[in-house]
Amino acid sequence: MFPGSLGMSLAGNALEKGTWQLETTNLRDFGKGKHSNVDDTPAGGGAGMVLRADVLVDAIDATSNTEDTRPRLLMSPRGKPLTQERVRELVQAEGVVIVCGRFEGVDERVIETRELEEVSIGDYILSGGEPAATILLDAIVRLLPGVMGNETSGETESFENNLLEHPHYTRPAIFEGKTIPEVLTSGNHGKVDSWRHEKSVELTKKRRPDLLKDV
Ligand code: SAH
Repeated sequence: MFPGSLGMSLAGNALEKGTWQLETTNLRDFGKGKHSNVDDTPAGGGAGMVLRADVLVDAIDATSNTEDTRPRLLMSPRGKPLTQERVRELVQAEGVVIVCGRFEGVDERVIETRELEEVSIGDYILSGGEPAATILLDAIVRLLPGVMGNETSGETESFENNLLEHPHYTRPAIFEGKTIPEVLTSGNHGKVDSWRHEKSVELTKKRRPDLLKDV
């Protein structure tokens, strides 16, 4: 599962150059008993399997000792939904430790003792936490210095000013009878900027009025 799509394109080039590093730990290496079990049935009954406390703690402690100041995150739909603001904070950290897997849940005692911050990537359920971890890492890595070719493009991106981005156009000038808004080909940068801002506000009001409440 890792690096998966993070081994390609911008993130992949940066990984190869050593701009960021990825270290993966296999829970199975910390399994218990003859079958290296990592999970067990939930106390109190019910569906699915729960990641064992002892297994997860061994895996976390082998990866991240007591002096490690990196945030420890657990991918989970119960977490606070991820925002660009939180991504920016995580970029400033010395790295992150991410716990992810395919479980009904992990033993709550580990969340408490190892201070795991639950992070959700949205209000829907995935079959596993790995794609969620990939998404989180992708969002962080692209903000690392030197990863994106055009540094300024990150600043006008959706969410950076609590606004969705304006519409884009390129060649051909006429496509299926539709033209490009005249202002964009006028060469007047001031007018282009105000048109884009206007469109951003319009779009945000229509699709994500919740974002404007925070401005
Ligand atoms: N029983 C859990 C869901 C388990 S889904 C609950 O109701 O909260 C299976 C795995 O995918 C879990 O390890 C979970 O952490 C991960 N996962 C599912 N949806 C996710 C989301 N929106 N964000 C982050 N991780 C998610």
